[in-house]
Amino acid sequence: MTSLSRPPRLRLAHLPTPLEHPERLASAMGVELWVKRDDATLGPEAGNKIRKLEFLLAEAIDRGDSTVITCGGIQSNHARATALLAARLGLRAVLYLRVSDLAEAPAIIAGNVLLDRLAGAEIRFITAEQYRDRERIMADAQAQLAAQGRSAYVIAEGGSSGLGAFGYVHAMEEVRAQLDAGEAGGRPFDVVVHACGSGGTAAGVALGCAAHGIAPQVLAMAVCDDSAYFEGVIARIIADARVIDPSLPEPVPVTVDDAAKGPAYAVSTPKHRARIAEAARLSGLVFDPVYSGKALSGLWDRAADGSLRNKRVLFIHTGGLPGLLAQAEIFSDVC
Ligand SMILES: *Cc1c(COP(=O)(O)O)cnc(C)c1O
Repeated sequence: MTSLSRPPRLRLAHLPTPLEHPERLASAMGVELWVKRDDATLGPEAGNKIRKLEFLLAEAIDRGDSTVITCGGIQSNHARATALLAARLGLRAVLYLRVSDLAEAPAIIAGNVLLDRLAGAEIRFITAEQYRDRERIMADAQAQLAAQGRSAYVIAEGGSSGLGAFGYVHAMEEVRAQLDAGEAGGRPFDVVVHACGSGGTAAGVALGCAAHGIAPQVLAMAVCDDSAYFEGVIARIIADARVIDPSLPEPVPVTVDDAAKGPAYAVSTPKHRARIAEAARLSGLVFDPVYSGKALSGLWDRAADGSLRNKRVLFIHTGGLPGLLAQAEIFSDVC
């Protein structure tokens, strides 16, 4: 189902991503697990953010903007994808990255930051306190560049806006084509499960599930904040997307589960790490400790407590490998 009001999209990702059934992991978890390999949307820019950026960068280019401005945590996968795609498209990237210590930040070179630097992005470090004002800070930067004659496009945290959400409406359309071609048994799923960090993926998946008959519900595994916070954020993004394309149907219901989020954003528990290791050994799939590993662990708990036992689950592997490599030392307890 396509719509005339669907916004323009750049073709940046390598699609469709595979739909796999990791059998030994599925039977260890006790669910009929299917994995949408969005960790394989491309090369170093892979993950879920590229799908949102196909729409966001299309708008930036359409407007004739020469610079993109965005923000995230120091190991932001979104900032890294933006930096690499900006380089590919000949745009400049300005990244506001949140750090705990401004004095030590310039020495950080691991993981996503290495890729940001290789791509030539301009990195501006900000504190957690400043980060709360990120929208104003990015708007000020945009105004400053405009005063120098450079027009800049601001991308919200995580690419999570009404427009960015179309990346996952489109991803569900892609799953529909895979089911129609007989993949995954050709039948819809009971639930789609994925990691939730800024809400845009959940919003797009919920709309796309309704538009393309993929599953009657979405389980978004929060990796920070809490369920009430994300329910509000996701509802706003859904409303904004439906303004852009009024032909989008009512979304399927989204349950935000915050039970597996751990102590804080980017802080994992020994249980998360043990499950990341077990999953890798049973499937060769590598989940990260900031997002997809927490979501997988939450799904595993729900399978174990019976609430999802034997259900047909589509788990979206959203990527995050550079973040795992940046935290290598915390894995010494499981490797
Ligand atoms: C950003 C991100 C998510 C969360 O997606 P949102 O749309 O921000 O909720 C999940 N997994 C990985 C690896 C990410 O980088």
